[in-house]
Amino acid sequence: MITPPPARADLSCPSCGAPLPTDTRFVAWCPSCDWNVDPGGSAAVQDVPAGRSARREEARRRAGHLAVERLYADVSAEPDRRPGRDRALLSASALAGAVHLVTAVLAGGSLWLLVTGNTVARAFGAAGFFLAFMLRPRLGRLRRDEWSLNRADAPRLHALADRVAAALQAPPVHLVRVTPEFNASYGRVGLRRRGVLTIGLALWEVLTPQERIALLGHEFGHAVNGDARRGLWLHSAVVTLDHWYETTRPVRTPAGRSDALFQVAEGIAGLLMLVPHTLAGLLLRLLDRLTLRTGQHAEYLADDLAARVGSSAATRSMLEALVLHDSVEALFRRQAAVRRTGAASRTPPGAADDSGLWDELRQYIASVPGTERARRIRVSALRMGSVDSTHPPTHLRIRLCEARGPREAALTADAAETAAVEAELAPLRARAARAVFSSGRW
Ligand SMILES: [Zn+2]
Ligand SMILES: [Zn+2]
Repeated sequence: MITPPPARADLSCPSCGAPLPTDTRFVAWCPSCDWNVDPGGSAAVQDVPAGRSARREEARRRAGHLAVERLYADVSAEPDRRPGRDRALLSASALAGAVHLVTAVLAGGSLWLLVTGNTVARAFGAAGFFLAFMLRPRLGRLRRDEWSLNRADAPRLHALADRVAAALQAPPVHLVRVTPEFNASYGRVGLRRRGVLTIGLALWEVLTPQERIALLGHEFGHAVNGDARRGLWLHSAVVTLDHWYETTRPVRTPAGRSDALFQVAEGIAGLLMLVPHTLAGLLLRLLDRLTLRTGQHAEYLADDLAARVGSSAATRSMLEALVLHDSVEALFRRQAAVRRTGAASRTPPGAADDSGLWDELRQYIASVPGTERARRIRVSALRMGSVDSTHPPTHLRIRLCEARGPREAALTADAAETAAVEAELAPLRARAARAVFSSGRW
């Protein structure tokens, strides 16, 4: 049970005199004039960074913000436009082609050396072929793990996902994963591009049944929104570059290896790796920039599809819930600390009732007052915050959802269906809670 929060004595805004929110658990700020709206971030936003590289970084950040705002203006002006093949996307596709070509030439050249060369050439061929194998485009594999739920485990959840997919004319997913995180994702793996839906329980639990349908609508929207970044050509090039970047990362001297010879060898290896590592990093950044516009446009379209299937009201409130990430993390941290010290009165350490965490989470999030939710959205707007680097800022997604006007839900779930899905998630709910307590992240 969440005990009622202590109320702050009636205070008024030192700037405009309007009354301030009274819940002492949260920041005192003024919804009328934004006084103290972002106590942790306002200084950072206004500070002029020192140093040339910091200023360059700041200029890049501002240019990025301008590009994001320009895209928002374009997308809101033309609701029916789909992500197109602009010059940036064509350049990204050409860059991806160059990445694939390097791998192909390396594999072909090495094979040629292996077949036609002398002993020394064959040794180079074998090494080159091994390298090409290591750098091959990776398409991912359909891997079941402890978070997977197949159709037999969760028929009602799969049926709900199928209904959302069918409403959007998206193919059904092959695998549903339910993890502890505060997020959700949709991906395609393997040559057959089979769909994998991942639902983060921390997010799912704080959403209403209709908001969950909107969330599924957004995720399945990724299957039909024409996002070129998720296509085989671009995605596999990014994965390959990522692999280059990670495998060429300079290694650190392990503890206990401080001899000069080892350090010289490490220095030479580091120098050899520096060029491909830097190049891979630059190419990754370039690809990211070239696909920013089309990728974010596709995300807005996925939100439109979410509204079509789950209603615009549910999509909007689902998006508003995304800014509560910090509150979820704070609750996890608190509950994990309580567990560690064994001070929990209801749930001593090691108790079987781990899934009580999700009830605590739901109650806590429900107790966050509207003024604090509004503050989080304003802070998100000030910081241009988004769920990750691929999504547009959350406040712009909310604004676009409002601008599109009200839309009724194409799909709903009745109480029996919602309860059946809840029951199917029960085993994973306990496992996910144990993961939260034992991960050490909180
Ligand atoms: Zn004020
Ligand atoms: Zn998305």
